[in-house]
Amino acid sequence: MTSIDQITHEQKVSLAKETTFRVGGEALDFYIPSSEEELCLLSRYFKEAGQDFLVLGNGSNVLFADTPFKTPIIKIGDAYSSITVDGNRIHVEAGAMLSKVAAVARDHALSGLCFAAGIPGTIGGAICMNAGAYGGEMKDVVESVTIVTEGGKTEVRSCDEMDFGYRRSAMQPGQIVSRVTLRLAEGDVAEINKKMEELKKARVEKQPLEYPSAGSTFKRPEGYFAGKLIDDSGLRGYRVGGAMVSEKHCGFVINYDHATAQDILTLIEDVRRIVHEKQGIWLTPEVKIFA
Ligand SMILES: Cc1cc2nc3c(=O)[nH]c(=O)nc-3n(C[C@H](O)[C@H](O)[C@H](O)COP(=O)(O)OP(=O)(O)OC[C@H]3O[C@@H](n4cnc5c(N)ncnc54)[C@H](O)[C@@H]3O)c2cc1C
Repeated sequence: MTSIDQITHEQKVSLAKETTFRVGGEALDFYIPSSEEELCLLSRYFKEAGQDFLVLGNGSNVLFADTPFKTPIIKIGDAYSSITVDGNRIHVEAGAMLSKVAAVARDHALSGLCFAAGIPGTIGGAICMNAGAYGGEMKDVVESVTIVTEGGKTEVRSCDEMDFGYRRSAMQPGQIVSRVTLRLAEGDVAEINKKMEELKKARVEKQPLEYPSAGSTFKRPEGYFAGKLIDDSGLRGYRVGGAMVSEKHCGFVINYDHATAQDILTLIEDVRRIVHEKQGIWLTPEVKIFA
């Protein structure tokens, strides 16, 4: 039986190193569980202490302030990331990277995950966000999700029960994605590989992958594209300190030159205000902001 003291626990962890924006202060308490038992234990421990916590995957869709982050973080990554193939199903622990899951699927001639290969997140983060690209989304491939509920019990939810929508799911604060079962279709390794390479090329051509970012900063407003609204508002290349609206893809805010989280936050607010003034539409951040 594991006790809380046996779970890897670090203090003063740089969030700039844990997020793809490469900004943010220190996390005062950083737990790195390596099993579902440890996830349940942490969940129960925090519930009994009346303490909120935050789950972090690969940090590719989050923005933390420059100041110390006091809420304990549960980091789900490499330490809890096994992938098992069973016929046309893949069972994945929450910390596995989507790119790795997509590669395993391809190697087993299972199709349906090409869209996910270039998304730099964990499967846990992808479930929370219903991550998607190029016409595919997690909703299309999820069979069931095992969740650790508040207080440390596990619960299996079907895809329908996850209530996936555009970049959202039924996940609530205090709940943790622990394991996911994906159901894929039989395919052809060479064809899957070709598709994955095509999508990778499209990303390299269109996205500013050479700079730190959190991908598309804003959600797509119905009937519009955030990037086009930003471009049409004259904001291509707009800068605040070291943060910039990418010249290559206006939907991406990038850490162009040693930005602070405050630079990025100010830029996001400026973009929202100016786009609203010029186009009459309020953009909503897709990035989860903890500031
Ligand atoms: C260059 C780039 C390109 C991108 N392209 C795309 C794209 O094409 N499509 C797309 O949808 N997204 C894209 N993203 C955004 C991001 O990669 C996805 O949203 C991804 O699914 C986030 O996963 P993560 O593990 O990094 O989650 P994090 O950023 O760590 O967390 C995101 C949210 O999920 C929660 N969370 C994470 N793991 C868990 C868990 N196990 N249990 C409960 N809650 C959890 C966090 O609390 C947070 O609220 C891109 C990002 C970058 C940097």
